[in-house]
Amino acid sequence: MSIKNFSVPRGTSDILPEQIPTWQMIESKAREIFHTFGFREIRTPYFEETELFARSMGQTSDVVQKQMLNLQAQLLQGDEEKSVHLSLRPENTASVVRSYIQNRLDKKEGLSKLYYLGAMFRGERPQKGRLRQFHQMGVEAIGPDGKTAYLDAEVISLAVYLLKSFGLNNFKLKINTLGDSQDKENFSKYLRTELKPRLSQLCPDCQSRFERNVFRILDCKNHDCQKQVSQINLDDSYLSSASREYFQQVKKVLNDFKIEYEVTPKLVRGLDYYTHTVFEITGSSLGSQDALGAGGRYNRLVEDLSGPDVPAVGFALGIERIILALGEKAVVEEKGLDAFIVALDQPALSEGVLILNELRLHKISSDIDYTLASMKSQMRLANKLKAAKVIIIGENELKKEVVLLKNMSESTQEEISIKNKNYSTLLNRIAK
Ligand code: AMP
Repeated sequence: MSIKNFSVPRGTSDILPEQIPTWQMIESKAREIFHTFGFREIRTPYFEETELFARSMGQTSDVVQKQMLNLQAQLLQGDEEKSVHLSLRPENTASVVRSYIQNRLDKKEGLSKLYYLGAMFRGERPQKGRLRQFHQMGVEAIGPDGKTAYLDAEVISLAVYLLKSFGLNNFKLKINTLGDSQDKENFSKYLRTELKPRLSQLCPDCQSRFERNVFRILDCKNHDCQKQVSQINLDDSYLSSASREYFQQVKKVLNDFKIEYEVTPKLVRGLDYYTHTVFEITGSSLGSQDALGAGGRYNRLVEDLSGPDVPAVGFALGIERIILALGEKAVVEEKGLDAFIVALDQPALSEGVLILNELRLHKISSDIDYTLASMKSQMRLANKLKAAKVIIIGENELKKEVVLLKNMSESTQEEISIKNKNYSTLLNRIAK
């Protein structure tokens, strides 16, 4: 019988303990900054009804067409077992909007400023920077009070501020506007007229995008498609004067905030729900998968999902991409222990576990080696765990009712009394 060796599913990865400090650094800074900007955390399920994603991202988007990870589930619905169509979330905007509507947040506040951190799932072809399970941090600001260019600028500046505070400087912010639904319609008509005579020059993907999602042709990476697109005049003539004015205001606030950006007419984003401002942040060291994050305004989505007619704006940043872009800078040292206990024989071990328990109850991080290995090997372990202090207990120490306390950074040691199992002096010394 051959024994199968299991490994992580393709496109996913384990995040091992030595990598965790990097993740925790990013996550804790992010939470702090989200709070600074007045956003509150929301946690929604990792899967939702497939139809929610199809309706929000657009049936014709690449994600819904090709990348949804569907769950086959035969679940009890009421008393009957029914097959329900569920998918792992490919992004979180749809879920947050679903929750906003379901929980009637519009009745509770004029503007819901929500943030999330968590795993997303897409059945993509894995490559560097492109995974099937990846992690995003993001925000959605939703509500009747949210129809202002100040909020677009706030959300964009938050994304930039986050990246800078993780230590990233080599990135570029690109912005554009799609205008409102009518402007978008005009724009897509214009694009179809311009692209029709060039259709045969486009890649097969773009040929099918022509009908179902013409905007996506603009950011196709294929060389031939880029060449065709570069010949189209992309000015903002499709915009109404109100939409143009709105975009002016967003840019003005960004200028006032001294945020550098580049207006990129080709930037359209592939999802149906965007209106007005769209933006993307790319990292210069990332190769082909260079998007660190993206977002924009989506004034129609809440209503399209049967909610109230309220505007919204948000973004998502990819955490794996941030870590890749940080390179060496992403390495964060693991925290060491306050103390490690070296017990040299069985009676010493019995005493050692009592001390260990006492240390932990006093919030002193500590550990022990239960194996009674040699002094040398236990000291090696203490070093590996970066223990600041080591408590050594052997036959002599027990006889004298003391322990040896070694300060690892100063290479000093002292005897400390544990007479009548009174550990208070020891605790004080370690806490120092
Ligand atoms: P999107 O919703 O596709 O604009 O994704 C927002 C951000 O999430 C991207 O800019 C990437 O940083 C990250 N991201 C999206 N898809 C993946 C993926 N398959 N693997 C890793 N990161 C991803």
